[in-house]
Amino acid sequence: MTIKEALIMGRQYLRVQQNPSANLDAQVLLSHVTGIDRTGLIIRDDQALTAAQLQHYQELLERRAQGEPVAYLIGRKEFMGMDFIVTPDVLIPRPETEVLVETALQFFHNNTDYPTLVIDVGTGSGAIAISLAALVEGLQVYAIDISEAALGVAMQNAQRMGVKERVHFQLGNLLEPVLTKLEEKVSIITANLPYVPSGDIPSLMKDVRDFEPYLALDGGPDGLDLYRLLLPQAYSLLRLGGLLILEIGPGQGQGAQKILPPEQWQSKVVKDLAGRERLVVAVRC
Ligand code: GLN
Repeated sequence: MTIKEALIMGRQYLRVQQNPSANLDAQVLLSHVTGIDRTGLIIRDDQALTAAQLQHYQELLERRAQGEPVAYLIGRKEFMGMDFIVTPDVLIPRPETEVLVETALQFFHNNTDYPTLVIDVGTGSGAIAISLAALVEGLQVYAIDISEAALGVAMQNAQRMGVKERVHFQLGNLLEPVLTKLEEKVSIITANLPYVPSGDIPSLMKDVRDFEPYLALDGGPDGLDLYRLLLPQAYSLLRLGGLLILEIGPGQGQGAQKILPPEQWQSKVVKDLAGRERLVVAVRC
């Protein structure tokens, strides 16, 4: 079978399974199996696949058809232009989360006198912590997660991206591992904690619900339980004028702003590129 035939076959197979990104998924999986990038697949589409490649490709198509996310099948996900390792122990970095990183970058751009010290809580794959460390010169980041397996993935990513000396990994719940340890106040705390309301979990897309870590999704009855617990800890660690950036889901803006005591925080809701509520950005007063 040639590359061209394999792409047509894969696309048709995934389309039958109601997959809205059948064409792209087939290309990404075939590219992974052959080691030829997506442009190369188009240029060399008359090249024949080996029997082993074809078998591997068919296996991946079947798993994809069952809902397994492409990122887990190939073990990679691009975020902020960097190539992150992902496993089922970590939430797959979402393009929407790039707006969180960009908000933090903008803060350092506008506040050059602030110490370049950040905490990323619930770091998962490390996408936020590591991309910030890679993009802000001299930045020191504490990256915390309650999952040891997730931290293992994040550490590999820090190594790959060449920032492991500046990203300090800590195992533990919320900000507890650093609460009494830091000598200096931090400039920014970023948090993409689980924020999906428990009752919404059953209606999530199958790909998310059945394959991504539940621990990274369930945020309690209104989705904001972990943020409620985080707030007093974040308040004590942030310097005056420092930023707390929380990722939220569409429709959670007002609810999330309500849990921020106004005498401690001045907050605003930021939308993502699709125009949906995505962040609450709070300045520590
Ligand atoms: N963005 C994820 C989703 O779409 C949720 C991530 C989270 O809870 N932090 O399901």
